[in-house]
Amino acid sequence: MSCMIGLKCRECGRLYPKEVINVCEYCFGSIEVDYDYDAIRRTFTKGSFASRPRSLWRYRELLPIEGEPTVGLSSGFTPLLRSERLAAALGLKELYIKDDSVSHPTLSFKDRVVSVALTRAQELRFDTVACASTGNLANAVSAHAAKAGLKRFIFIPSDLEAGKIIASLIYQPTLVAVEGTYDDVNRLCAELSAKYPWAFVNVNIRPYYAEGSKTYGFEIAEQLGWRAPAHIVIPAASGSLITKIAKAFKELRRLGFLDGTPTKFYAAQAAGCQPIATAIRERSDIVKPVKPRTIAKSLAIGNPADGYYATKAVLESGGWAESATDEEIVEAMKWLAETEGVFTETAGGVTLAAAKKLIEQGIIPRDESVVICVTGNGLKTQEPLTNCVGSAVRIKPNLASFEANLAAQLSGVSTKQ
Ligand SMILES: *Cc1c(COP(=O)(O)O)cnc(C)c1O
Ligand SMILES: [Zn+2]
Repeated sequence: MSCMIGLKCRECGRLYPKEVINVCEYCFGSIEVDYDYDAIRRTFTKGSFASRPRSLWRYRELLPIEGEPTVGLSSGFTPLLRSERLAAALGLKELYIKDDSVSHPTLSFKDRVVSVALTRAQELRFDTVACASTGNLANAVSAHAAKAGLKRFIFIPSDLEAGKIIASLIYQPTLVAVEGTYDDVNRLCAELSAKYPWAFVNVNIRPYYAEGSKTYGFEIAEQLGWRAPAHIVIPAASGSLITKIAKAFKELRRLGFLDGTPTKFYAAQAAGCQPIATAIRERSDIVKPVKPRTIAKSLAIGNPADGYYATKAVLESGGWAESATDEEIVEAMKWLAETEGVFTETAGGVTLAAAKKLIEQGIIPRDESVVICVTGNGLKTQEPLTNCVGSAVRIKPNLASFEANLAAQLSGVSTKQ
């Protein structure tokens, strides 16, 4: 059953058919998917989810497709980890990590948006898909399009991490490295989408694509036993994920699946690219573009497409924003690994470092529930960790060499003889 009514302008409310449109022809407002919530409420209960497969498609009535899902059937439903050791270190009572670093199959939350975008692209009869990416989207479109048998053109800035490039090339897309920033890549893709009949997942079919991020929020609520956290710290690039987690909780409230105090949203950005965090601090709805300079390349969007809506969602919730320097990002990546056994990429370092500052400043209170969003995997961004994580102790394959080289570590260790 599909509950998608059509598309709707976020500004003037004008309705459009469920086709390929991403800006309002009348007011240039951004376009969003609209659903028949009464129909969903009539046919659907919390219990409806329980028997369904553990993938993002268990929320399919709230996703913008008309038929059966065809892409990403095993994506989503990642762990929500109760984080006792990190909570103790931060002095928090109740802390969780929502861990999309283990998302199937490309180890970031972009598997969610791409599963939805490519299912919809197939319904709209596209045979070629494309994207403008800061890295993780490139990996996800490459992989999911390979499995779906779609042609794929992937556009990235030319300075991405080796892990992100190899994790796209392995799926044999046409990978185009553009000499410029992500914002240059995005502008080029907007131009190309006017000329080539391709589904650019985050450009011309963006309204469908963006809905996939809601599943990250649905899962948090379901995994907490149909409860929303009091505070949630979210990394921001284009700002879409923040707005869609907010939309997810709003939809669940509307359906009667959630009650209690509304959640406060916090944006996390790198100090070297924080247009959204700056607008939030200034309590302004004008997001001024910046030139990114940060090791958190997946978040390096200087002119964020959903910056305005992300800023609004955060301020309306009573939340706030923080940023992290390159050094703080690396420290937080190491700290998360040491306390919780989770190896996140630079974006996760940004989020944890920002959360720590918000807690230390008393902006996030220590006695309320907190979720920190880990959206990508550290194996893809190893460059900034070189020379920061120590090295293995190298020995000869014998007992004497072991004991000679590890004298310090073995002092005080008891032996059997
Ligand atoms: C893309 C991305 C984000 C942010 O996504 P937006 O929806 O564009 O704000 C966060 N974390 C990681 C790892 C990403 O790849
Ligand atoms: Zn409009």
